Amino acid sequence: MSSNDPFRPALERAFAHALGHLSSSDVRPIGATTGLIELRARFNRSLPERGTDAVQVIDDLVRDAEGGILGCDSGRFFGWVIGGTLPAALAADWLVSTWDQNAAIHACAPAESVIEEVASGWLKQLFGLPQSASFAFVTGTQMAHVTCLAAARHRLLMRAGWNVEEQGLAGAPAIRILTSSERHGSIERAIRILGFGKRAVTALSCNECGQLTPDKLAHALESGASRPTIVVLHAGDLNIGAFDPFAELIPIARRFGAWVHVDGAFGLWAAASPKYRHLLEGVELADSWTNDGHKWLNTPFDCGYAFVADSEAHRGAFSHRTSYTQFVDDARDQIEWNPEWSRRGRGVPTYAALRQFGRAGIADLVERCSAHAHALVTRIGALPGAELIWAPVINQGLVRFRDLRPDATEPDHDRRTDEIIARIVASGEAFFGGTTWRGKRCMRVSVCNWQTSAGDVDRAVRAAQIALG
Ligand SMILES: *Cc1c(COP(=O)(O)O)cnc(C)c1O
Repeated sequence: MSSNDPFRPALERAFAHALGHLSSSDVRPIGATTGLIELRARFNRSLPERGTDAVQVIDDLVRDAEGGILGCDSGRFFGWVIGGTLPAALAADWLVSTWDQNAAIHACAPAESVIEEVASGWLKQLFGLPQSASFAFVTGTQMAHVTCLAAARHRLLMRAGWNVEEQGLAGAPAIRILTSSERHGSIERAIRILGFGKRAVTALSCNECGQLTPDKLAHALESGASRPTIVVLHAGDLNIGAFDPFAELIPIARRFGAWVHVDGAFGLWAAASPKYRHLLEGVELADSWTNDGHKWLNTPFDCGYAFVADSEAHRGAFSHRTSYTQFVDDARDQIEWNPEWSRRGRGVPTYAALRQFGRAGIADLVERCSAHAHALVTRIGALPGAELIWAPVINQGLVRFRDLRPDATEPDHDRRTDEIIARIVASGEAFFGGTTWRGKRCMRVSVCNWQTSAGDVDRAVRAAQIALG
């Protein structure tokens, strides 16, 4: 690089700021410390008339964001289901921005197109999915649902003599969706985007373990058996990480000609561990599956995966060829499978993360995070004034905090739970979120950061103990 290289100064600043951020997670508060009004006041300059030096732009950005960055990179971040960033994945992601490839088609991003092929093959091996399944690297499970359910729509309506890509949905046979009461909101959003409408959804109640049962599913399938049907199952639901019994349910759905879609946003990773693989028995019999890289694999945002057994249906839903795009024989053009046109090369950080971990590293990650989740939930749940609500099956569990007044009611316990969560977050020592589960406010514990250690668990338990006073 020459000394007047236009990139070096800003990149060097960003590099220094990045290292400073990553190396300070032990001493930084994990939650945000700067409020909305202050953040707006800092960023909301009037549109600049003249440009600003690149280094200044970067320095200002870091200064103004201070206190408005959650410590998701920390081993003590247990909110939602988020995960951190693995070194190889982060570094590879910087290269994705540097290379600035448009991963729409092979001709625009030749190496990226091949990296996606290889990384998807590795993912299918880890998840135990058929190697013949087609795939798409998308922004997250939300768009993976859209991708997979668009394939389902194509196939189910084609079977009913209706070409949805040509004819649209008006006048088409109505598709119904059977799923569980524990579904993630992204499923409903996919259903809205695809034009099925929320009324097409029937939510079936689960058993005590948060699973759909064969008799419930069979009963629902029998009534209205002539309608094209999608069954959405779960590999790890958002609150307790429940796994539907795939080996029992999928053959039943098959008998009725239903398309089976599996939301495996984080739970599919359990297949990488010999200890937890049994939870996914039969999952490979489904028609489509989703998973996120940006959660348990610890790639940077955004990164999710869609897999479809019926590759023809998948391609039928998205294929698009124009006169001005160039096609290379035998190469994989992402646009044939993805909802986006221009897009980021998401295969690259995935490939890098899978290489840094290796198969054994991922098995270890799954088992380690699950052990930490179990320790957190059982230890916090055993504190005076706390109640263990759900011990993790894998990496997700629930705790509730009780109002100890003798006449306390359920709403009092709900309030107490939110109050204790807020106190823990305000301590800066750890971050947890709340959820309403079976009508009760709970603290949700999710462990999916590769850096979470036994020391982090101790610090978080201590923070909960102090919050309980
Ligand atoms: C996170 C999550 C989603 C949504 O995934 P995004 O990557 O945020 O789009 C869907 N289902 C489950 C079970 C999840 O945990």
